[in-house]
Amino acid sequence: MASRQASQRTQPTPQRARLRERTRAIRKELAALDFVASGTLHHRTKVCGKPNCRCASDPNARHGPYHEWGRIRDGKLVQSTITKQQAQLLERGIANHQRAKALLAEWEQLSEAEILHPDPRSAHR
Ligand SMILES: [Zn+2]
Repeated sequence: MASRQASQRTQPTPQRARLRERTRAIRKELAALDFVASGTLHHRTKVCGKPNCRCASDPNARHGPYHEWGRIRDGKLVQSTITKQQAQLLERGIANHQRAKALLAEWEQLSEAEILHPDPRSAHR
């Protein structure tokens, strides 16, 4: 049947179709990320040093928590004190960054598979 042959020439193999579907899903997930960040967050409580302050004797009365963000900039560790809200956004950004790196690594593998083993049934578009 001529029509079936023509359709096979333009349709990718099921394996290639799955690969491209996964690539589209990766791109969609990457496009949905808002913040990406790196570094480390610390949430600390502090003792102020005044001998008559409650923090001196009661661990639950320590001041804070103070949120700190450390990251490498130009080869140097930079520390900033940030608000709780900024800490939450940075935490999300750090998680997004990890996810983005994993997705990029997978996308790279899929690209390699497609480039080194082209689908004989369809030209890359
Ligand atoms: Zn104190």
